[in-house]
Amino acid sequence: MRRHRNVKIVATLGPASSDYATIRALHEAGADVFRLNMSHGKHHEIAARHRIIREIEAELNSPIAILADLQGPKLRVGTFARGEEELIEGATFRLDLDEAEGDATRVCLPHAEIFAALKPGANLLVNDGKIRLRVKDCGADFAECEVVVGGTISNRKGVNVPDVVLPVAALSDKDRADLEFACELGVDWLALSFVQRPEDVNEARTLAQGRAAILSKIEKPAAVTCFDDILAVSDGIMVARGDLGVELPVQNVPPIQKRLVRKCRAAAKPVIVATQMLESMIESPVPTRAEVSDVATAIYEGADAIMLSAESAAGEYPVEAVTTMDNVAREVESDPTYHEVIEASRRVNRQSIADAIVVAAREIAETTDIKAICCYTESGTTALLTARERPHVPIIGLTSLQSTARRLALTWGVNCVMTEQLTRFKLAVLNAARAARAQGYADESDQIVVTAGVPFNVPGTTNILRIAPCKESLIYATDPG
Ligand code: PGA
Ligand code: MN
Repeated sequence: MRRHRNVKIVATLGPASSDYATIRALHEAGADVFRLNMSHGKHHEIAARHRIIREIEAELNSPIAILADLQGPKLRVGTFARGEEELIEGATFRLDLDEAEGDATRVCLPHAEIFAALKPGANLLVNDGKIRLRVKDCGADFAECEVVVGGTISNRKGVNVPDVVLPVAALSDKDRADLEFACELGVDWLALSFVQRPEDVNEARTLAQGRAAILSKIEKPAAVTCFDDILAVSDGIMVARGDLGVELPVQNVPPIQKRLVRKCRAAAKPVIVATQMLESMIESPVPTRAEVSDVATAIYEGADAIMLSAESAAGEYPVEAVTTMDNVAREVESDPTYHEVIEASRRVNRQSIADAIVVAAREIAETTDIKAICCYTESGTTALLTARERPHVPIIGLTSLQSTARRLALTWGVNCVMTEQLTRFKLAVLNAARAARAQGYADESDQIVVTAGVPFNVPGTTNILRIAPCKESLIYATDPG
């Protein structure tokens, strides 16, 4: 679907958005990517949502990316005899491996690896960081903690251990089963939660076997520390501000967001800014001014995509939340300051022929009256490089691979159109001009830039740049081959 903005919108599906009408309304309002959260929802529910998205995609003939978000090694306490307990500051609270129900003095933390990695002085954060425990003494099967900040602890609340690189597998048994299930369904992206090291990403990639692209969620201090190495082996990144703001002081999150967004653009890999963007819209039809400003900031920073979590999955106003993001994005992107900021943070990359071509395409579009940059892309790389340039005319990605078209739905500014495999250059120009006209980006009197590669249909060969007319008779008259 044609959008009047470049930043992409990711909407998480859930109980509030699992029927055809709502998912279609979300897509029409602006959701380019749907996130299926494997932490919630049974496999048959996930499969039903997946089926509906593909149905809408086929009806509207517009590629949609589906991102399956794996739960990852999220630690949780066991259950309490009374369901919940009040932890008082200064009290002692014990975590152990005993599966018996907990009380005000102890509860089970069913992760033996954690006890092996804990040291006295380490902090344990419970329930989104609301409760803080400090380890006083620990052994192979217990940790005796002081309650530093008290609060209510209840069944299966999440536990964050920010100070320690956990010796846990990146993918639990549940994650492996979910990964296989999601790949078999045919999702386009897999998001990995609590990535700690590049090896975690490699492990998922080995299991995915090319069936889905891999996106690393940055939500652990360890991942921030070795971010460059994680980025190098990932296809995309999510700044997962929810857990990141628990594991680190919240005020550390904005500078990390800025730094990560820049690094992703430099690497030409898509980055999502996520969590609490329009939190109040879970219950309210209008956002707070601060939320609008947060969405705008992520766009000014150059994020590829902005994300809704509970707002679209469980809130009362899922469609309004998408519309709000779309409105903010259109306003920001029409602001001259946005263009200044984006231009100022562009780095010139001329390491390859493809880099030189995309830079030239952007410069031509800036200096002449070109209506779109149409790039042939099989692996998606040329479209990613073009997007990194942040040209001020639309980017049309032309590909014969549906998986490439879908994955690129997450990338800033890229609108993908499926084409047949190329056999002649004239066909490349004809198809590009047709796509530009059909999508409403150009008409017969306009010109476009077409980038492609010979030999045709081989990834990594972009080596042609043609400034072409959109009028068919002119293409027939002027183009060879
Ligand atoms: P989650 O990830 O919603 O799966 O926890 C996002 C975040 O932590 O911000
Ligand atoms: Mn998270």
